[in-house]
Amino acid sequence: MTLLDRQQNISRDRQLRERAAHVIPGGMWGHQRAEAVPAGFPQFFDSGQGAIVRDVDNHEYIDFMCAWGPMILGHRNEVVEQAARAQAEKGQCFNGPTEQVVELAELVVEMVDHAEWALFQKNGSDAMTGCVTIARAGTGRRKVLVARGAYHGAVPWCSPSLVGVTTEDRAHIRHFDWNDIDSLNAAVAEAGDDLAAVVVSALRHDLGIAMEMPSVEFAKAARAACDETGAALIVDDVRAGFRLDLGGSWNLVGVQPDLSAWSKAIANGHPLAMITGNDRFRTAARDVFVTGSFWYSGAPMAAAIATMRELRRIDGPALMRRAGERLRAGLDEQAARHGFALIQSGPPAMPLLQFEGDDEKSSLGEQFCIEALRRGVYMHHRHNMFLSCAHTDAVIDTALEATEGAFAALHAQRTNNE
Ligand code: PMP
Repeated sequence: MTLLDRQQNISRDRQLRERAAHVIPGGMWGHQRAEAVPAGFPQFFDSGQGAIVRDVDNHEYIDFMCAWGPMILGHRNEVVEQAARAQAEKGQCFNGPTEQVVELAELVVEMVDHAEWALFQKNGSDAMTGCVTIARAGTGRRKVLVARGAYHGAVPWCSPSLVGVTTEDRAHIRHFDWNDIDSLNAAVAEAGDDLAAVVVSALRHDLGIAMEMPSVEFAKAARAACDETGAALIVDDVRAGFRLDLGGSWNLVGVQPDLSAWSKAIANGHPLAMITGNDRFRTAARDVFVTGSFWYSGAPMAAAIATMRELRRIDGPALMRRAGERLRAGLDEQAARHGFALIQSGPPAMPLLQFEGDDEKSSLGEQFCIEALRRGVYMHHRHNMFLSCAHTDAVIDTALEATEGAFAALHAQRTNNE
């Protein structure tokens, strides 16, 4: 059965969507909410292996979303799964942490350049909120500066939606423009002696707009502003962490944060997040109250240790960069041949694919992704994609055979419409 057939017949995906609509608000929540998954994209998945995912209707796709980030070594990586399984077989949750928590914190301090301590949680939103709380505790101040349009999590102080959010939740949040030193300095001046933290993403990866690395000047200005005022520089490495640089993403611009938030890829799909910090904020990190029912469970920590060691052993960031460059070059060549101009932005390991002249909703991009899905490749047209270490040259070349067909189909549709 092709994906096209599936849309016309009652697929397992459709059945599940209909059942979900009765018992899950809106049919699904968050970034997977039903109205955000375009028709033609599968919503429910069954399994994965390496660079391949399989949906509930048994269609396989080369996966360029990697669970929206976590699968950095590929699905069911044997080294990671063995480590997680070994702990899970002994038990998951106890009255205290397993010994892996110490080994993991030691490894993090060894690998992440600015880290002199680490603590572990479950979600990127937890980690970002924890960083802000620690910065406020450490400085005794309230104001937090955030780049306009940046995503830092699904909690009231930073949620992209204001539904259910009070003015008080945002009372001490102020904004600046990404990579704009004047705008940052103006916000710093306005916060005055109440400035607790400057929050930056590893890179600009706002939904639906071209990605942008931090300029070295901007990164240095952010560091200088924090040094001059005593505020904390917080890097949100939740999305980019370990894909670009194993020592922390702002190593690329030569600037070290005081605090960083991590999640997504650190345990190759096992639920884990972390805050890393330097000694200036050690006491504050000790004094704030952060905890959670599952934050000490052992198997995700065993998975994280294995993930980090494996990424270091194989030089994961270099592999993913190479795979991303191969994909990018192939797509550019195909697009040009079929009469389309692409805007490919972001680091190759986290690419965003856009079409020049596309509309606000990225309709052409969406159509391309649907044609790619029909041919066994899962891409996204508005959110950055993710490469993994399982994307070998052979996998990229197979994906490019499918995208060749997708561009041809898009070209044929355009010709028919003219
Ligand atoms: N920060 C960034 C940059 C993110 O991409 C995300 C998740 N997409 C978060 C924070 C929040 O992480 P989580 O969904 O795990 O709470």
